[in-house]
Amino acid sequence: MKIVDIRATTVAVPLEAPLRHSNGAHWGRFVRTIVEVEADNGLVGLGEMGGGGESAEAAIRALLPYLAGHDPFQLETLRFKIANPTASLYNNRTQLLAAIEFACVDLIGLHLGVPAHDVLGGRVRDAVPFASYLFFRYPGAGFDEIRTPDQLVEHARGLREAHGFTVHKLKGGVFPPDYELECYRALADAFPGDRLRYDPNAVLSPAEGLRFGRAIEGLSNDYLEDPVYGLEGLRQIREQVRVPIATNTVVVNFEQLATNVLRRSADVILLDTTFWGGIRPCVKAAGVCETFQLGVAVHSSGELGIQLATMLHLGAVLPNLTYAADAHYHQLRDDVIEGGKLPYADGRIAVPTGPGLGVRLDADRVAEYAELYRELGGYPYDRDPGRPGWYAQVPNERFADPALALDPLG
Ligand SMILES: [Mg+2]
Repeated sequence: MKIVDIRATTVAVPLEAPLRHSNGAHWGRFVRTIVEVEADNGLVGLGEMGGGGESAEAAIRALLPYLAGHDPFQLETLRFKIANPTASLYNNRTQLLAAIEFACVDLIGLHLGVPAHDVLGGRVRDAVPFASYLFFRYPGAGFDEIRTPDQLVEHARGLREAHGFTVHKLKGGVFPPDYELECYRALADAFPGDRLRYDPNAVLSPAEGLRFGRAIEGLSNDYLEDPVYGLEGLRQIREQVRVPIATNTVVVNFEQLATNVLRRSADVILLDTTFWGGIRPCVKAAGVCETFQLGVAVHSSGELGIQLATMLHLGAVLPNLTYAADAHYHQLRDDVIEGGKLPYADGRIAVPTGPGLGVRLDADRVAEYAELYRELGGYPYDRDPGRPGWYAQVPNERFADPALALDPLG
């Protein structure tokens, strides 16, 4: 099997509402680049890439001269052909590599007639548990804002009833820490049997991170995720707070993982199939975590069905996945795959069992959302439509005002 063509299509798929985060917001839609890698036997493998609200079409297409004639089975040489670690100092293609790796794993499975998880070691579970992913939101068409503790709890209750979540992740770093602490405690009070996690995307100062961490000791915390920035910052919090510390920001490659093994800063590593350059690097990293008894969870950098499938196959093959995975997926209104969005049942999504990644593109949906992208274009992920001129600093001391009800995109 040899690669003969690489195609890329940018789509914009609507979210229920704009999602607020520490750096700005997802402005009511996800912009994702759908990757199709065609082989000489006519099979087409699927990949997907984010890009902070922007298209990655040109960068994906530019890989064809590097990969024409490449055998998709050769995943290790794929890495060196486009993401050699020293060449990457000049041209970092880690996320592009991930999108192509997804497509090659898909092609291998399609060619052999087996699901991706059988290529990756075989599945140890048939469904992957997920956390609800709770955001503060601006209003969206048909959806009210989520800003107050009551609105947040009501939203979580609805998701819990609809999808069966028993783990809840609050994405913070938007409002002042004391206000978000009040929101987190409201969730703990409302769902006393459930597990919780809080992630302010590293914007707290060391002093605020320490204060927040100590204030939530005694609640049903899975972990405190990236309360502050940097391995040394996390280590300081970890040494003084009795809550496990997790990260998806400063352990995103093997060098950093080695540092964290030698001098522990985080207890739980959130593996992201895009940030780490593919599904297989995440499987390898999980092996290191198993050896050194670090916790493993699955990170969400925003996903449509193709990326979600990579997370499901990853989750399927990790014996040491003892935490629910994260996904923005329930925030989407639709998907680009055949059959539409994959369903949750009892807080889980079934691992696809068809050949390859087990999801195929729905041509009509792709056309519809490619048209929506042409209409709306990208969006600045690191800007907030409700706060013109503002940009995030780390640590942040200019938080949004929780008293303001805004509808900046309405
Ligand atoms: Mg995070």
